[in-house]
Amino acid sequence: MSSTKTDMSRAQRVADLLDGAGADVLLVTSEHNVRWLTGFTGSSGIALVGADGLREFVTDFRYLSQSAEQLDAGWERRIVPDLPAAVPELLPAGGARLGFDDAQVTVKAHARLVELLGEDVTLVPAAGLIEGLRAIKDAAERERIQAAATLADAALTEVLGRGLVGRTEREVGLDLEFTMRKMGAEAVSFSPIIAAGAHGALPHAEPRDVAILANTLVVIDWGAQLDGYASDCTRTFATGELDPRDEEVYNVVLEAQLAALDAVRPGPTGKDVDAVARAIIDGAGHAEHFGHGLGHGVGMEVHEGPRLSKLGTVALVPGHVVTVEPGIYVPGAVGVRIEDLVIVTEDGHDVLNGLSKELTVVD
Ligand code: ZN
Ligand code: ZN
Repeated sequence: MSSTKTDMSRAQRVADLLDGAGADVLLVTSEHNVRWLTGFTGSSGIALVGADGLREFVTDFRYLSQSAEQLDAGWERRIVPDLPAAVPELLPAGGARLGFDDAQVTVKAHARLVELLGEDVTLVPAAGLIEGLRAIKDAAERERIQAAATLADAALTEVLGRGLVGRTEREVGLDLEFTMRKMGAEAVSFSPIIAAGAHGALPHAEPRDVAILANTLVVIDWGAQLDGYASDCTRTFATGELDPRDEEVYNVVLEAQLAALDAVRPGPTGKDVDAVARAIIDGAGHAEHFGHGLGHGVGMEVHEGPRLSKLGTVALVPGHVVTVEPGIYVPGAVGVRIEDLVIVTEDGHDVLNGLSKELTVVD
């Protein structure tokens, strides 16, 4: 556990959005949102932010010391046995419109809230309010994501030094997980994907107890979790001389990836950037082999906003951290994905991971 103390400016930014969301107070319940807002890293905590300056944080006895250490002095802190039961008395007298996270609060928890709050309080669905702010990373967050990406690169480099051919996908995956943890990662962002040959045609392939063969492609998609932030990257390696078909697929994906990367800057929507990669892959005759979106936001969670896909309506702005990961998946034959993690800057973007994208042979 590390201290991630935030200042109160995040709470103020939330407060500024409340009126537009039809709420007077926001009840913050998801672990990631509470952490982003308050710096508290424990599993039992809720926060209330009011347009009128209300700043309440509620936890239970187990987090007495931890919350004292992690919270900014701007938060009023309550230690209670039952978190939801504490909410009504913290709200303004005379009633309020209480925004809640309808994407996260369960039907059961909602029913309990309704019962606890009584008729003076109206519950207003307000999911996504904090996520929209979280999508834009500040300098400290950028540093953490960069550090996670650098660690992940170093770990894969070490693992590749032990070779690929003859080891099973599962062995390589476990080696990579262990190496990231050994290098200081607090967790993996997700279980690494190690997928050789035709298995690479499954975008979310599970590593198998099957030895990796020579002269094929191996998709490796991995990320480290460090100091509360995730990284995400994919490289596809050759294990020797390739079938020309496989090499051609690799080259198309690389061309699409470089072109889409070039389009990442403030202004275009996720849909616009997705279309750049899709045009190249479609033009090469692989339209039906690129069935997922181009990329996604990365931060405390490995999949968050904004999305780069046909559904991506959010325009990119400086501070967005997104992946650019086109792929071609030919069922039963071959799969290639190349993924970079990038931050949108004032005049373009910076790539946060550092491994080469030239087709590299690892045997
Ligand atoms: Zn990935
Ligand atoms: Zn990804």
